[in-house]
Amino acid sequence: MTHSRVSMALPPAGPADLTQLADRVAASGPRVELCSPYDHEVLATIRTSTREDVRTAAAAARQVQPGWAGRPVEQRARVLLDFHDRLMDRRDHFVDLVQRESGKSRLAAVEEVLHVAVTARYYGRTAQRHLRSERGLGLFPVLTRLDRNYLPKGLVGVIGPWNYPFTMMVSDALAAVVAGNAILAKPDAQTPLVSLAAVELLEECGLPSGLWQVVNGDGGQIGPALIDQVDYVCFTGSTATGTKIAEQCAQRLIGCSLELGGKNPLLVLADADVDKAAEGAVRSCFSNAGQLCVSAERIYVSEPLMAEFCAAFVARTRALKLGRSMGFDSEMGCLIDAAHLQRVERHVDDARRKGATVLTGGQRRPDLGELFFEPTVLTGVTPEMDCYADETFGPVVSIYPVADDEEAVARANDSAYGLNASVWTSDPERGRRVAARIRCGSVNVNEGFAATFGSIDAPMGGMKGSGLGRRQGIEGIRRFVEVQSVATQSGVPIAPSHGMDAGTFTAVMTGVLRVLRRIGRP
Ligand code: NAD
Repeated sequence: MTHSRVSMALPPAGPADLTQLADRVAASGPRVELCSPYDHEVLATIRTSTREDVRTAAAAARQVQPGWAGRPVEQRARVLLDFHDRLMDRRDHFVDLVQRESGKSRLAAVEEVLHVAVTARYYGRTAQRHLRSERGLGLFPVLTRLDRNYLPKGLVGVIGPWNYPFTMMVSDALAAVVAGNAILAKPDAQTPLVSLAAVELLEECGLPSGLWQVVNGDGGQIGPALIDQVDYVCFTGSTATGTKIAEQCAQRLIGCSLELGGKNPLLVLADADVDKAAEGAVRSCFSNAGQLCVSAERIYVSEPLMAEFCAAFVARTRALKLGRSMGFDSEMGCLIDAAHLQRVERHVDDARRKGATVLTGGQRRPDLGELFFEPTVLTGVTPEMDCYADETFGPVVSIYPVADDEEAVARANDSAYGLNASVWTSDPERGRRVAARIRCGSVNVNEGFAATFGSIDAPMGGMKGSGLGRRQGIEGIRRFVEVQSVATQSGVPIAPSHGMDAGTFTAVMTGVLRVLRRIGRP
């Protein structure tokens, strides 16, 4: 058995145009070639940023930020809504660019572009509500007025991965920008172009030039210099790097949000529709060739359904079309680079060597391109195997039988990670009950990840080793502001006054507190 093959010649990339785009980067270091993982085609050359370039870019962004923050929120939000519209007009251009930079299938690239658009619409429409000053409860009714203001942090550093290079770099930053911040962004060195294209388009929509700076280079080289310059760090990437970033932020006493790795469970409960669950599991495990933080790498199936589920899941997995194509005919693209391919292959070889069964896949596909690896389904995986608990971040999933919901929940929670989970059942109420017991930042009932990820009002992020903080929703924008309390006291001071001695003041205050308790004030 082999997976269907799709391989089409790619249309020319226009390296001259892309190099012009690459020249928008804040960098003076040597030029390097950017090559597509699909076929090593040179897409452009781009300069690398030095530490001095990072400092210069930060200073330039800081100069523009106060003017931007001084504009009314509606004006800033209009830029996001225009961006949404123009992005939809140029959808194919962005989809092409994402595919070329990351080697993903066209549908995965479309999903990414749509996610950015939905995020722009969401924050374009909700920023005013999320950011407007609010009245709170002062110490004394009437006499103490409390206002809560939301002030931009200033300069937000955004550091992101290669797997969803557009949405992971841009969606968070859109929330930060509409909150009045400037951005210092460092995309992964393999995928900087789509960030630069986004800034170009945003500037066409009225974003002040210089507000959103993009630097380019190796994270270990320029990442620390970036963190030294900013007021907050929004990081998406591995748990290992996130830990280092948290340490550096702690040294500077600045905040950070960390969207990190996962080893996400998918639960097929005893009452699930096996066909629907198998179809959903294929999307959940192999979207973007499994290089997706929220994709499932562990499937727990109610024992009586195990054989039927495995057969249905394997049949669908085998039918997936792999290949490089700028059309929708390929359903799975390649992995990002040779090092990552080796990691994925190592996980499969280790499992095979230690006794796991490969139900399908498990091989490279050099006939399609150097970086293609088959979607792989394992059973009989045990704790001694690397892929049991460690994130593979590739198209590899293990299936385990479980006795009941109790065992499914216990095994789902038996992980150092807690990012996303998926529950399949014909009783949505039961699904929600099970979901509430799973220690993951998001749980999708009868869907893999798209229902929470696509609902921008849904806060997304990890528990345990999967991170700190949340993107999306009100939490996703409030992390980029400082909450300021302003209390205005009138009438009487909060101290003995008008000749009152301390003892009388204490008695009056005690009486007032008793009354406030009775009238139900919090
Ligand atoms: P990575 O941690 O290696 O790199 C991410 C980014 O951090 C890159 O831009 C890199 O250059 C930069 N970086 C590396 N070292 C740095 C340092 N010392 N200081 C500052 N920046 C540094 O991650 P990756 O391999 O590119 O991405 C894959 C990982 O990202 C997976 O673990 C995946 O689960 C995770 N991820 C999580 C989410 C989420 O929302 N939770 C989303 C996408 C990816």
